[in-house]
Amino acid sequence: MESVNPATGETLETYEEHTDAEVDEALDAATAAFEEWSDESFAHRRTLLTEVADLLRDRVDEYAELMVAEMGKPISQARAEVEKCATGCDYYAEHAEEHLADEVIGTEADAHTLVSYEPLGPVLSVMPWNFPFWQMFRFAAPNLAAGNVSLLKHASNVPGCAVAIEELFRDAGFPEGALQSLLVGSDEVDDVIEDERIRAVTLTGSVGAGRSVGETAGAELKPSVLELGGSDPFVVLEDAPIDRTVRSAVYGRCQNNGESCIAAKRFVVVDDVYEEFLDRLVEGMEGLTIGDPTDEGTELGPMAQEGLMDGLHEQVEATADAGATVHVGGEPMDREGNYYPPTVLSEIPDGSPADDEELFGPVASVWRVDDEAEAIERANDTQFGLGASVWTGDPERGERVAREFEAGCCFVNEIVKSDPRLPFGGVKHSGYGRELSRHGIREFVNRKTVWVQ
Ligand code: NDP
Repeated sequence: MESVNPATGETLETYEEHTDAEVDEALDAATAAFEEWSDESFAHRRTLLTEVADLLRDRVDEYAELMVAEMGKPISQARAEVEKCATGCDYYAEHAEEHLADEVIGTEADAHTLVSYEPLGPVLSVMPWNFPFWQMFRFAAPNLAAGNVSLLKHASNVPGCAVAIEELFRDAGFPEGALQSLLVGSDEVDDVIEDERIRAVTLTGSVGAGRSVGETAGAELKPSVLELGGSDPFVVLEDAPIDRTVRSAVYGRCQNNGESCIAAKRFVVVDDVYEEFLDRLVEGMEGLTIGDPTDEGTELGPMAQEGLMDGLHEQVEATADAGATVHVGGEPMDREGNYYPPTVLSEIPDGSPADDEELFGPVASVWRVDDEAEAIERANDTQFGLGASVWTGDPERGERVAREFEAGCCFVNEIVKSDPRLPFGGVKHSGYGRELSRHGIREFVNRKTVWVQ
């Protein structure tokens, strides 16, 4: 397994993949760790999660630099990601006990009846490279707080992050085996899910990977959570505050180099403000500072892998060939590294890749619609249902529109984002289950009914 710097193409480090025997040992270690960890008090788990948060803050530069080197996000955004992981740990350190407290439910007058929330055991987590720390922490913090343990199969292009995350939990004092990284390819995932020592699986990634993991988990009758792709609509109504809307559109599309599941991808704009919005979006996209992701001022770095850039370019070309207009960008940049320029498409034909598929890079697709009703229809006309946003001067109108969206996370006058206090997840082909908040911590627990007569 190799770490390759996407800004230079240089191989940074090579890691030996784990053998079948090593995977077997890790599964045994996870089982043993679960015995110990599930018996620990919330107070003890709180102490260790707080220690993880402290270590993240102490090591913010180290981890941020590691992410930048392996997948190319701008350094300022990488630091923010580390801080967000610490915030997620703080949140569950503080709230896990209350989220999992017994729920007493009155039934018969002479009975004491309640629901208790008990951990399930070792959970396999299959994670993507785009937020190499946060994706894992938003699963790990609630699940370790709940008393589960985890095996992390991280994306093959971020093995350094996988190893660093395992070390971090060990350094914080978690029992040996509570969080282990399996350095294996995706072809090993089914065998691990099928192993009786694994009790559940979570995956964040593409629809294809989700189908495969969901199918195996289903055959094994194991619970699963799937956080998959998205093609979030960003709906601009005629009364939208235009400056803020355009700024948010550019950031919402291009943060994390455009490689975010909840990036705004389809801009649906009512006729009255269409020309102005499109002109200013193009201007904003052209104005981004593209460069070395280690430079503080960089707003857009390289895409994480050459194959991803080639795939994105094929989608853009096919959409243009089908009749779309390319306003800016549209060709890989002539420089070292996987740099794809900010790109804006409009007049998108139905059925073209920009219409049907997720574009995982800095490409904004813009639609013109007559009015609010058509905007909602267009926003929902997708296989995905992860996030959605609407921009308007009237928050009540915005809330009404947000309630019409077929998506898991709907925002008014704010870009779609995850927050430990709120549930995160999708509907339709964006997956099922929820992470974060009290909903996330209750995904992989036995909601046990207890009746005492
Ligand atoms: P992939 O689905 O290719 O990879 C994600 C993880 O799944 C990796 O660890 C990968 O391993 C593994 N994997 C890939 N194929 C299989 C399989 N058939 N069976 C089991 N595991 C598999 O996604 P990308 O890395 O390309 O990530 C981008 C995608 O993830 C986008 O579609 C994006 O929208 C989505 N995503 C969703 C998020 C959400 O929260 N909903 C957040 C972030 C991304 P390996 O690397 O070894 O192939």
